[in-house]
Amino acid sequence: MQKRIYFCGETPNNAAADSKEAKNCLGGKGQSLAIMTNIGLPVPGFYTIQCNVCNEYFQAGNVWPAGLKEENSMSVHKLAEKMGKRFYNHEQLKQVIGADYQTISVEEFKKRAADPKVPTALLLSVRSGAVQSLPGMMDTVLNLGLNEYTVRLLAGKNPDNERYVLDSYRRFIMMFSDIVIGVDSKVFDLKLHEIKQKFGRVQDFELTADELREVVAAFLKLAEEKAGKPFPQDIDEQLYLAINAVFASWNNPRAFTYRNMNKIPHDGGTAVNICAMVFGNMNNISGSGVGFTRCPKTGVTFDYLYGEFLKNAQGEDVVAGTRTPINIFTMREDPSDNGIWKRIYSELAAVYKKLEEQYNDLVDLEFTVEDGKLYMLQARSGKRTAFAMAKLAIDFVKEGKWTKEHALLQIEPNKLNEFLFPRFDPAELKKAKPVTKGLSASPGAAVGQIVFNPDKATKLKAENNMKIILTREETSPEDIQGMAAAVGILTSCGGQTSHAAVVARQMGKTCVCGCSEIHIDEHKGTVKLPNGEILHELDWISIDGTTGNVYKGQVAQIDAEITPELQVILDWSDEIRTLKVRTNSDTKKDCAIALKYGCEGIGLTRSEHQFFEKSKIKAMRKMILAKDDAMRAKALIDLKNYQKSDFVDLFTAMDGRPVNIRLLDPPLHEFLPSGQPELIAELSKEMNISVQEIQEQIDSLHEQNPMIGFRGCRLGVVYPEINEMQIKAIFEAAIEVKKATGKVPGVEIMFPFIIAEKELKYFIDMTTRCKEIVFAELKDEVPYTCGSMVEIPRAAIVADKLAAICDYFSFGTNDLTQTTLGCSRDDSGRFMPVYLNKGLLKADPFVSLDQEGVGELVKMTIQKARSVKPNFKVGICGEQTDPVSIEFLHNVGLNYISCSPFRVMVARVSCAIAAIKAKMAK
Ligand code: PEP
Ligand code: MG
Repeated sequence: MQKRIYFCGETPNNAAADSKEAKNCLGGKGQSLAIMTNIGLPVPGFYTIQCNVCNEYFQAGNVWPAGLKEENSMSVHKLAEKMGKRFYNHEQLKQVIGADYQTISVEEFKKRAADPKVPTALLLSVRSGAVQSLPGMMDTVLNLGLNEYTVRLLAGKNPDNERYVLDSYRRFIMMFSDIVIGVDSKVFDLKLHEIKQKFGRVQDFELTADELREVVAAFLKLAEEKAGKPFPQDIDEQLYLAINAVFASWNNPRAFTYRNMNKIPHDGGTAVNICAMVFGNMNNISGSGVGFTRCPKTGVTFDYLYGEFLKNAQGEDVVAGTRTPINIFTMREDPSDNGIWKRIYSELAAVYKKLEEQYNDLVDLEFTVEDGKLYMLQARSGKRTAFAMAKLAIDFVKEGKWTKEHALLQIEPNKLNEFLFPRFDPAELKKAKPVTKGLSASPGAAVGQIVFNPDKATKLKAENNMKIILTREETSPEDIQGMAAAVGILTSCGGQTSHAAVVARQMGKTCVCGCSEIHIDEHKGTVKLPNGEILHELDWISIDGTTGNVYKGQVAQIDAEITPELQVILDWSDEIRTLKVRTNSDTKKDCAIALKYGCEGIGLTRSEHQFFEKSKIKAMRKMILAKDDAMRAKALIDLKNYQKSDFVDLFTAMDGRPVNIRLLDPPLHEFLPSGQPELIAELSKEMNISVQEIQEQIDSLHEQNPMIGFRGCRLGVVYPEINEMQIKAIFEAAIEVKKATGKVPGVEIMFPFIIAEKELKYFIDMTTRCKEIVFAELKDEVPYTCGSMVEIPRAAIVADKLAAICDYFSFGTNDLTQTTLGCSRDDSGRFMPVYLNKGLLKADPFVSLDQEGVGELVKMTIQKARSVKPNFKVGICGEQTDPVSIEFLHNVGLNYISCSPFRVMVARVSCAIAAIKAKMAK
């Protein structure tokens, strides 16, 4: 029989618990339980239904595979035995007690239950846990196994502490109803609130056993009313339904969104971990906490244990943000309860050390203390901010635990963008007075308008591109899309490990949480500040996730700087990478940014972009609409002057580095007015051509499919004078810069949309002619090279012929994707998201290179080109320069990548990672 369940530290094929094989089978949480068990940490008993069963279940139409029922039943009883407890069904309990619970008095039942020979009831937590962590996105059911008879049994076993049994029961009814039956937990929250008010209680833990009895009765009634049937009493059914609900949570919308955001495939499935419950809510020497071996925000190591903790609480209370937890280090000095907390603190200290050694990384851990005994519930490599990621990498290398290569492999390149977030202008901060202060949960400075509802935040961002601060009492996993749409998150409840804080850190969103001095009323749409002032929806606020300060209005921001830690990561990357990193840049402003982030030249200047500037576009329009050669010649002179001065800027900024200028590319109609009669009238006057004639010209340039029409080098075949003007401007600018600076610019001239050898030769010859004219006129020379874009499959197919007559290629993978997939880059937005949601394509090919299709053409092009010129230079200037594409491009032998200025930094690190991985693969 196929083994689907692994018990208490067992692994597939006896693989090491920390192996990839174990993780792929047991999921992250199951693996961590196995690891912790095997290294001797105190873990309650558990078993794991492996990840693949989830897929079997879906494939069979939400039916358990044959054999699972028996295996599960055997495992749960084995677990009960291990824990010295029983997973009682009604019949079994009846036998042990000697009577049905309904036929004897509650007191008599409890008396019989108290007999030490009667084993106590096992309760379970049923927890999700996929291979890649989806923190908080899937479901978990706690306290499972409670019903009308086990609750009495446990009450009999704990005559002095019936409270925790009832507290667990009310939690279970609410959680099970919400997750398994689909009754919104809010109705239970409202009822709880009502009963707390009745008894004058503020916090849940203040409720007495009798008061909780009332809560339980009310919850059972509510659950029955809402579900239309009694709350399930059969514990086997409870377990079966809970396991199914955990399977189903793999596909809930927030897990789906999270996987899309983090590029996690949708076909993995989740494992289900069934663990013996331990009770942090048992009494005052119980509690639950979450810790990190180092700070996940900054990466700093403390001389105390970092984390948060709540006494007399279950784990959900710590992360839900409903109560603001206390710092774990307060345990160290806590004299109460005969020093139990001091002992727990030192036990935890040993656990922190052992786990960090085991994981060889920052570890995020969950624990529960039940009646003075510590239990570990989970451990994983901790999610971290970019700042922490860099600092940890450097510290682990300094501590001799990681090599530089290993450290770079731990860097998520895209996350480094967080270093580029603006921060508040220190000069402004001196003047601004914070209106309140919360916990600095996720760094950065965010300025936005208050919005309370996450759906509204998503809508306002999508429709109006508004900057939003999602402002809530606390956030829950349902809010993930609203959080993604916001620039920052502000909450009034919850600690450093609350959902808002953890998810914000992972998303790289600025977050201030646990801002307890403010009162957020989401229904009224108001925020009451400590000074009594009221802010309303859409009012502006500024939040500082580094200090926790909150300001009214908009505090001015300044650009980020490269921090010393980031510089170290970049320096290591530069030592290791072999791919060069250039930038796509059209202006000196772009060049300045790209140079700041370390670009090594320009890989693409879209020369037409310079014409889109308001002052220059008129000359372009006049050139296109000119009625005769004289008019066109006059417009071309103006254009040449504009271009030349722009090229001077680029060559000067790049200071001898290569500058690859591509000749005019887009269809001409893009330059002409469309539906703007005032512009047409102005042109008509200045050019002395009738409005009608201009309109006719514009109409005649209309094309059905302009992106595969009269564009690119085709323009230069029909109107050579435009390209000649551009080439002359390039040479004149280069000579001028050479004279002015004494540095020879790296001139590269590139032709777009090439499909044929003769076509390419036509432009190379044109370049030679222009060069001769300019060099003779200016009595000076500059070296230059000529290249071809590869943007159309035909260019890839004839790559050897093209390479034979030019100096380099640059893959225009935006167009190459469009032309290879027969998929318009401008219109794919209509269907691409659906393709991605349905899993028909792995990633958007306009974002990440389609390796199977376009990638094959890239490979073929390089092979063909290097078959005629072994050292032929190839680069890429399309948008597909994400880390995954860079790895592919490194492996197929590109020389450089070129990306937008703000991506240069990430690209440098991605190139290093690609080089390390390639070396390891060898
Ligand atoms: C490309 O097609 O990939 C490219 C860089 O050119 P453009 O985006 O300007 O068409
Ligand atoms: Mg292109």
